[in-house]
Amino acid sequence: MVNTVNIGTLKIGPKYPVRIKGMLKTSISKREALLEEANTLVKEGAEAIRVAIKYPHESQILKYLKSKIRVPFVADIHFNYKLAIEAIECGFDGIRLNPLNITKEPQIKEVVKFAKKNGVHIRVGVNSGGFRQRLDEKNLAKNMVNSALNFIKILEKEDFFNISVSLKASNIQTTILANRLFALRSKYPLHLGITATGPFLEGVIKSSLGIGILLEEGIGNILRVSLTGPSFWEIKIAKFILQFLGLRYFEPEIVSCPTCSRCSVDLVKIVEDFYKKLDELKSSSIKLPKKIAIMGCEVNGPGEAIFADIGIAFGNKRGVIFKKNKILCSDTVDNLAKKFIKILEEDNGYKRN
Ligand code: SF4
Repeated sequence: MVNTVNIGTLKIGPKYPVRIKGMLKTSISKREALLEEANTLVKEGAEAIRVAIKYPHESQILKYLKSKIRVPFVADIHFNYKLAIEAIECGFDGIRLNPLNITKEPQIKEVVKFAKKNGVHIRVGVNSGGFRQRLDEKNLAKNMVNSALNFIKILEKEDFFNISVSLKASNIQTTILANRLFALRSKYPLHLGITATGPFLEGVIKSSLGIGILLEEGIGNILRVSLTGPSFWEIKIAKFILQFLGLRYFEPEIVSCPTCSRCSVDLVKIVEDFYKKLDELKSSSIKLPKKIAIMGCEVNGPGEAIFADIGIAFGNKRGVIFKKNKILCSDTVDNLAKKFIKILEEDNGYKRN
């Protein structure tokens, strides 16, 4: 069984939901913008936030962030072990160390001494880009795993066990292989992610595949989606991955059909409008259904509505709302959104005038 560890107050392990980590992209020098980004990530669902620390004294920003935001913060450290010690002393809950660029045992031990004293978590984060030789997929994955395991040995020699590990490549197969190998050889929780994923859409697909396949195999306890794009999308995609795998539930899911020549309404626009409406409803006190089907015609509409909590199927410029295989009402496309909200309100015991 995988160990349970903690980043500050956040428990990570098999008894806990797969956690979502975010990473800030704003420059540390832009204090207010950095705080705004961190707030957005937390509002979106980030349970821990990583900050890249490049220069001495940058860790001091933590005091400001922590005075406003209550999630564990992790400092991302490369090359300079002294930055890790400074981050710990400034109050970071975790640090990420890269075994490929912080390599000297006495320096690592010095960091561990401070981490132990302050109850700080260490993520051993290996990225394939740190290897200078060109290796085939299999050997690269093996080297990544060995690098993490050798680093862990140094930490364990100091009686330090509050550890998680990440093994990331921009290639999905290498990432999957490395994580599978590690899961066979160690009990430390894995932080999943695909790195350097490329343009936005490609990044979403690579992350969903790489992280999704591992999670489906029961591997991984925390994840960070990496995209060349705004950080809040990384959290949204992470939530989608977890929800669509049935591992966590965050928000109502719309099941809509791809449309075909049978469809006589503008379903794309209808779905977009419903999506916006749902967004508004999320901030209300209405308890929303978990699954809503919106189908372009009656061929699959009623069938999908059986699996969804509520469903809408369209005919010629009109549509019907189904619930548990029963037609609740029929109306024009324009009126259907209003009827839908009315039904939700009635389900929640609200009375309409
Ligand atoms: S539900 Fe109807 S409109 Fe949508 S794809 Fe299927 S057959 Fe076509």
